[in-house]
Amino acid sequence: MKYYARPLGELIEQLSKLPGIGGKSAQRLAFHLLAMEEGEAEAIAAAIVEARRSMKYCSVCGNLTDVDPCAICSDMSRDRSTVCVVESPRDVTAMEKIREYRGLYHVLNGAISPMDGIGPEDINLKSLLQRLQENDIREVILATNPNIEGEATAMYIARLIKPAGIRVSRIAHGIPVGGDLEYTDEVTLSKAMEGRREL
Ligand SMILES: [Zn+2]
Repeated sequence: MKYYARPLGELIEQLSKLPGIGGKSAQRLAFHLLAMEEGEAEAIAAAIVEARRSMKYCSVCGNLTDVDPCAICSDMSRDRSTVCVVESPRDVTAMEKIREYRGLYHVLNGAISPMDGIGPEDINLKSLLQRLQENDIREVILATNPNIEGEATAMYIARLIKPAGIRVSRIAHGIPVGGDLEYTDEVTLSKAMEGRREL
């Protein structure tokens, strides 16, 4: 970082910690921030601090929220007998965008991946089992990503909860294998929900 004055070098270094931002992009962003109105740049910094401080994981479903339980969990107009299991809060956003699903969610905040040493106890799974025990939930839709980890996670959960007599379904694979739910277009995601099959 010796090419830059210290504060600029520090900004570039911090920005390069973001996903998808390499050294070149970090440099471009840093120069852009410095060329902005001071107030605008400060608003960006303030938004990061505010979001980081106020957002937490919902104690019921594991979604990111500023109120606990989250707005979806406390929305009494939603179908409380169906729970859609997803890997990340970004997937909840993707599902909400298609405006077809009216049930509840459970966010695992990860997926089982023996290769990376991530087991069932490392994801938000225990609280799902507890929810199923304590509430009248009739269907669980497994909407984990259609990749190796997502499939393994879906199979694991299906095996775990099927004996309890709960209907377990898996979203259909209009979604490209190896793909990410959050990057799937709305029509494909909508079709995948429609074509879900019982496990
Ligand atoms: Zn919630």
